[in-house]
Amino acid sequence: MTERTFSIIKPDATARNITGKINAVIEDAGLRIVAQRRIRMSRVQAEKFYEVHKERPFYGELVEYMTSGPVVVQVLEGDNAVAKYREVMGATNPAQAAEGTIRKLFAESIQNNSVHGSDSQDNAKIEIAQFFKDEDIVG
Ligand code: UDP
Repeated sequence: MTERTFSIIKPDATARNITGKINAVIEDAGLRIVAQRRIRMSRVQAEKFYEVHKERPFYGELVEYMTSGPVVVQVLEGDNAVAKYREVMGATNPAQAAEGTIRKLFAESIQNNSVHGSDSQDNAKIEIAQFFKDEDIVG
């Protein structure tokens, strides 16, 4: 089933100028980048985006980190895109990420783990709507 997921290439990756390398892994996995924009996330955007983690001890640092440099927000499309991208990303902690995954290849730490991907179709829709208008997504 063709579906869409939301992705962010995080500040640790833009700082190292490896957004193209990450996009190559995404495309090699059969996902299509149907929308993409490089932005600087505002504090308000980052706080809202990670609201579910508000009570977690890492929330403050996570918001700091996500606003510390440019990010690339993306919409990815493909068969089972949500689950497929979670697989391609690898585990949150790069030490536990499988070989060949983006986080195994590129992540620096559990926080600076290079990419975000939606964890459900419902969240994908919510997250996409936070950053893209329908007409900016070209499948
Ligand atoms: N994170 C962190 N410390 C932790 C767990 C998570 O800094 O102990 C950060 C990390 O950047 C992660 C994000 O918070 O990607 C969201 O956490 P989540 O558990 O949703 O992981 P994900 O879905 O990104 O794999």
